[in-house]
Amino acid sequence: MKKLLFAMMVASSAAMSLSAKIDLIPMPREVNVTGGECRKSDAPKVELVATIPPEGYELSVTPDGVTIRHSDDAGLFYAKMTLEQLETKNAKGNPTSYPCVEIKDAPAFRWRGVMLDEARHFFGKTAVKRILDEMSWYKLNVFHWHLTDSQAWVLDVPGYPKLVRQGLGKNFGEKVGPFYYTANDVKEILEYAAKRHITVVPEIDFPGHFAAACRAYPDLACKGGGKVMCVGNTNAVAFAEKVLDYVCELFPSHDIHIGGDECPRKFWAKCPRCRAFVEREGLKDAEDIQPWLTRHLAAYLEAKGRRAIGWEEIVVGRGKADANGESENKDGAKSSLLPGKNVLVMGYHKAAAARSANMGYQVVSCPNWHCYFDYTQLLEDDPFNYFIPKKRWLPLEEVYRFDPFEGVAAESRANIVGGQCCNWTEKTLNLYDLEWKMWPRGLALAEILWTNPEPSKRDFGEFSARAAKHRRRLIREHVNCAPLK
Ligand SMILES: [Zn+2]
Repeated sequence: MKKLLFAMMVASSAAMSLSAKIDLIPMPREVNVTGGECRKSDAPKVELVATIPPEGYELSVTPDGVTIRHSDDAGLFYAKMTLEQLETKNAKGNPTSYPCVEIKDAPAFRWRGVMLDEARHFFGKTAVKRILDEMSWYKLNVFHWHLTDSQAWVLDVPGYPKLVRQGLGKNFGEKVGPFYYTANDVKEILEYAAKRHITVVPEIDFPGHFAAACRAYPDLACKGGGKVMCVGNTNAVAFAEKVLDYVCELFPSHDIHIGGDECPRKFWAKCPRCRAFVEREGLKDAEDIQPWLTRHLAAYLEAKGRRAIGWEEIVVGRGKADANGESENKDGAKSSLLPGKNVLVMGYHKAAAARSANMGYQVVSCPNWHCYFDYTQLLEDDPFNYFIPKKRWLPLEEVYRFDPFEGVAAESRANIVGGQCCNWTEKTLNLYDLEWKMWPRGLALAEILWTNPEPSKRDFGEFSARAAKHRRRLIREHVNCAPLK
């Protein structure tokens, strides 16, 4: 612990005193500028050192050359990413030298994610690869791919050809689409991501946000109204299993997202099949159908050697977190229907994320007021804002205030595996719009998840100075990065 504290102090003081020379994002955990420079010529010397933590690296730049020490491929990759940021360029823009430094670095969190919703707006392979590139520059390593929702289902699943037909839309009266990914498209993305040490985590949303599937195959929905998954229908449960079979076949990720958010339960109470199901399974009432489904799908994935992830509703209450993630939490904590610890919880409200971690669940934290990048970035003159700005305003500074441990008991901190930004796209129309919303806020997120500087010692002014340089870099790479304020 003492060692860690020392490392964090070094990192934060490094961040404060060296900004003029070292403009890295994310700032490494330990940096020591030794003076002088190393001319860029020979390839770096690379050494394997088993004691270096996963994804970590040591970088030694001296006038005689560059040495990288690492214990895994990801560490070597990140060392090279850091080296690239250190390059000094000549007037023609060609890299000529590096400042001499000693760096010891490893990430604070193993889940450093970006979620992209392609069910509300479809961006396509080229755009996704672009996002993966941008992520890799800043050591973000999980691409959470939201592939299904009520508006569309964009993953082609063999045996269910009608699913992807739901992505049909209209543009000024003309039919467009359907837009979706085939198995080959997915493989191409997976390969591209793997080269950048990014894990692709697919999300198939059950039992709510499920209207596209219901439109394609009406028998999957409850009888008597409502476009939610009819859990009382054994064919619908078999459908979920078959989809997950295919997803596991296609995606190597250990974690598979099964959704679980915002499912209205009133339809289950009205549906004869679901009412019979409650009776058959001995559940208290229709409210307990979602916990049943979570447990069922989590066990199903576990049997395949995978782990289910769900939005916070899988553990808070009986699935009805309010805006603060507070309502019915107490009830949920007592419920015998809570899933076992074989699930990973994605908390999108601060209180729910902390509560889940304190209950002993592993948690990915993405509280909306720090991590929902569809929210307005600039209060004035934001060309890509479609909300009433003051109602959903998430400026860069607020992202930099994100503390993944807020509200988490000291003994439960290890349960926070990381965090991510969420790019919901009901109001994000194309790649230009998406990039504007992602950057520069993604820089702040990357630093929190990699470096996690002590919240009380974060210096937003110092960070902004570095971010300004990286904004220029992003623009040079044709990334549509918003101004800092
Ligand atoms: Zn039903």
